[in-house]
Amino acid sequence: MLTIGCHLSSAKGYEAMAKDAASINANTFQFFTRNPRGGKAKPIDPDDVAAFEVAAQQQGITRFLAHAPYTLNPAGAEERVREFAAMTFADDLARMEATPGQMYNFHPGSHVKQGVDVGIELIASALNQVLKPEQTTTVLLETMAGKGTEIGGRFEELAAIMDRVELKDHLGVCLDTCHIWDGGYDIAQNLEGVLEEFDQIIGLDRLKAIHLNDSKNPLGAHKDRHAAIGEGCIGFEALASVVTHPALRHLPFFLETPHDTLDGYAKEIADLRAVAGE
Ligand code: FE
Ligand code: FE
Ligand code: ZN
Repeated sequence: MLTIGCHLSSAKGYEAMAKDAASINANTFQFFTRNPRGGKAKPIDPDDVAAFEVAAQQQGITRFLAHAPYTLNPAGAEERVREFAAMTFADDLARMEATPGQMYNFHPGSHVKQGVDVGIELIASALNQVLKPEQTTTVLLETMAGKGTEIGGRFEELAAIMDRVELKDHLGVCLDTCHIWDGGYDIAQNLEGVLEEFDQIIGLDRLKAIHLNDSKNPLGAHKDRHAAIGEGCIGFEALASVVTHPALRHLPFFLETPHDTLDGYAKEIADLRAVAGE
């Protein structure tokens, strides 16, 4: 059975997310750990976590993905910006231990004209600062579209960051199909080649999650604008091939497609489950 879900609002807590997931036939979900633009996180309610565990078990939810605020920049030019990113990561990771063994995804950052190499060093140093041997959460670096001075648009950049991190066992990668398409990786015409390249440079064993999105822009556009599945330049067939690929189908898939209501996700989940023979 596919592990598939979508990005959900965390405003009402964990139990509410498990129920939202159930309502759209999802068995995983993603959410922001706090306001995506930063700011203080709500304290975690142990009663909500306990209720979540019951609801999650009923729905067959064993995995979820927390997403860091996308405004954080551990590769920032100012120390204040880097410190804020590291402090927020550390706080999020401490909170994640309320739900042990899950995953936490972040955007590597932007080098803001300091150069890719400096950016890579800064991101690795932030990870070395916040990762703890005893943590149970796996931290995922997200593949990016390579917009502006964004780091992570090339597999080599993610590999270089991971190489410099001491506690590698706590690290993985989240592959965003819209982002890598916009970054120039042709998953529509050459999925095998892209996966081979990923395997050689990063290692498929490091791939822990997929953000499943279509793209509003053509291959290599470096734009990062998500489209609904089948309504963008990647297309339904190519994205269905990602979901059913033997090297990928065991992974959790997260839709980050633009929909105003959960119905849009329910339809995408049903369509993708259908091509997977469910
Ligand atoms: Fe993201
Ligand atoms: Fe994403
Ligand atoms: Zn994106």
